[in-house]
Amino acid sequence: MIEAVNPQRILVVGAGHVGLYAALRLSKKLRAREAEVTVVDPQPHMTYQPFLPEAAAGNISPRHSVVPLRRELKHCKIVAGAVTRIEHARRTATVQPIIGPPLEIEYDQIIVAPGSVSRTLPIPGLREHGIGFKTIGEAIYLRNHVLDRLDVGAATTDPETRRRALTFVFVGGGYAGIEALAEMEDMARDALKYYPELSVDDMRWVLVEATQRVLPEVDRDMGAYTVQQLLQRGLDIRLDTRLESCVDGVVKLSDGDSFPADTLVWTAGVKPSPMLDDTDLPRDERRRVTCAATLQVVDGDRVLEGAWSAGDCAAVPDLTGPPGTFCSPSAQHAVRQAVRMADNIRAVIRGQEPTPYKHKHVGSVASLGLHKGVAQVYGIKLKGLPAWFMHRTYHVSRIPSFNRKVRVIIDWTLAFFLKREVVALGQLHDPRVEFTDVTPPIKS
Ligand SMILES: Cc1cc2nc3c(=O)[nH]c(=O)nc-3n(C[C@H](O)[C@H](O)[C@H](O)COP(=O)(O)OP(=O)(O)OC[C@H]3O[C@@H](n4cnc5c(N)ncnc54)[C@H](O)[C@@H]3O)c2cc1C
Repeated sequence: MIEAVNPQRILVVGAGHVGLYAALRLSKKLRAREAEVTVVDPQPHMTYQPFLPEAAAGNISPRHSVVPLRRELKHCKIVAGAVTRIEHARRTATVQPIIGPPLEIEYDQIIVAPGSVSRTLPIPGLREHGIGFKTIGEAIYLRNHVLDRLDVGAATTDPETRRRALTFVFVGGGYAGIEALAEMEDMARDALKYYPELSVDDMRWVLVEATQRVLPEVDRDMGAYTVQQLLQRGLDIRLDTRLESCVDGVVKLSDGDSFPADTLVWTAGVKPSPMLDDTDLPRDERRRVTCAATLQVVDGDRVLEGAWSAGDCAAVPDLTGPPGTFCSPSAQHAVRQAVRMADNIRAVIRGQEPTPYKHKHVGSVASLGLHKGVAQVYGIKLKGLPAWFMHRTYHVSRIPSFNRKVRVIIDWTLAFFLKREVVALGQLHDPRVEFTDVTPPIKS
């Protein structure tokens, strides 16, 4: 075994599914004299995104669907900031800390894992009225906003204001959109028990999907089952339909329909982090970092020594599919790629050969609200309660750390016995208003 003379400086860009798992494994598997690991992320936590719909629906405390970095990565150096530039030719990354001037960090090995952002389109009104569903902040906001709209609907005597407040539009029928829509509708329906002024028929939940099906991650019959379930619950499902505009909150669809809505959630896919535009790393036509199956960054056939990437921002060949196919952007691939990448970095540091990443996507599980779900795993198809149970079992087994698993299970148990919490904490979004209202300005 060849031991490095100086510890290798490993820089991890982004502490999401890839970054957290890779840093954790590196710090466990490499000795301090072999490597020092620095992790840069603007957030102090990793977000377990598959739990965002349950956090928004109030089944899990939002705090428990994130993993604190400083607690989990005790042997890594954590930098609270965003990487704004990578010059791999100089082995240097520029970091904008959350406060203060930018700093440059030199490295020997870099893990590029800033993930993805919502893939939006230039639709009039979208920027002003839309919200994504990728961050814990968005999930918390959406929960408070939906419950707040129920309060508005109950308080107003104007039928138009009520209709607008109680119209919720979700654009995009992948698992993020379907789970978010189904969980939020389930929560709102549950909350209506405490609103004698409102009935289920007052609410309008609309899914707008540009293709002819939902949940492309599972077979067509499972997608059709999902649509049928949502239709039976009274949701308005528009397939083969696009959002054309939402100026002043008036939603216009390609099928000619138009209606006002106070809520517009955009879940129509993701694209690699735009931060990658400020790097000298090779990218493919979809702007993903090009990788070999070993998770090393490659420019054509040439391996860029010391550069690694994985997850939503990377084009990683799928060795289980036909030639030319790539791994899908999913947590399932991201966490497994992270572990393979960490082991490959260790191998390279110790003068050994890296091993290609190979994992056949086992399928998907999606929750459609309490006790409802759809799952297709290893070819086995499950619907309703068994699918929902599998969703919960699978994800609690995947969320990092024993601490988080216990907290999530306690949340579920409490919600089972005490019913879920359906109060809006809208003040969180503007907490200083009351104080500034009673504090007079100083007259000059
Ligand atoms: C609502 C929802 C539900 C989902 N459900 C499932 C599911 O059921 N199953 C499944 O397999 N997948 C699911 N996914 C997809 C899965 O979460 C992603 O594929 C996975 O998170 C990708 O991991 P990643 O590490 O590439 O990116 P992320 O986990 O998003 O991590 C990226 C990290 O990089 C940080 N970052 C961004 N820019 C910078 C920068 N400039 N500098 C430093 N750090 C930066 C971010 O703060 C973040 O912490 C879901 C996604 C969503 C949104």
